[in-house]
Amino acid sequence: MHELSIVSGIVESVLDFVEAREIKKVLGVRLAVGELTHLEIEQLQFCYTALVEQTAVQGSTLEVDVVPARVSCPHCLYEGLPKYWEDALSMAPVPTLQCPQCGKATEATQGHECAIKTIKYVT
Ligand SMILES: [Zn+2]
Repeated sequence: MHELSIVSGIVESVLDFVEAREIKKVLGVRLAVGELTHLEIEQLQFCYTALVEQTAVQGSTLEVDVVPARVSCPHCLYEGLPKYWEDALSMAPVPTLQCPQCGKATEATQGHECAIKTIKYVT
């Protein structure tokens, strides 16, 4: 599972952070996850809860902010939101890397990130 390896990296960073600052208790961790990563937020939270058990950050929660995709088109110089597919099988429209203006392939400038934004803690 892709989510599991990502979350285990995040938990490791949080544990390093806690150790370096002698933090008593971590309440929660907020992640910024790009829409183009196709990571499932519920899966991330599920893995987090499982992985922090028996660690110094046990009981903390994971919150996820979804970062919308942005693309830049090298063909017509469009910049902004990508074209979305209305996928009947998925709950939300799926971002594509197709230019909404000229229909050619674009490059994503935002939406691939997966990083810790904030860590809420008590010292
Ligand atoms: Zn274009």
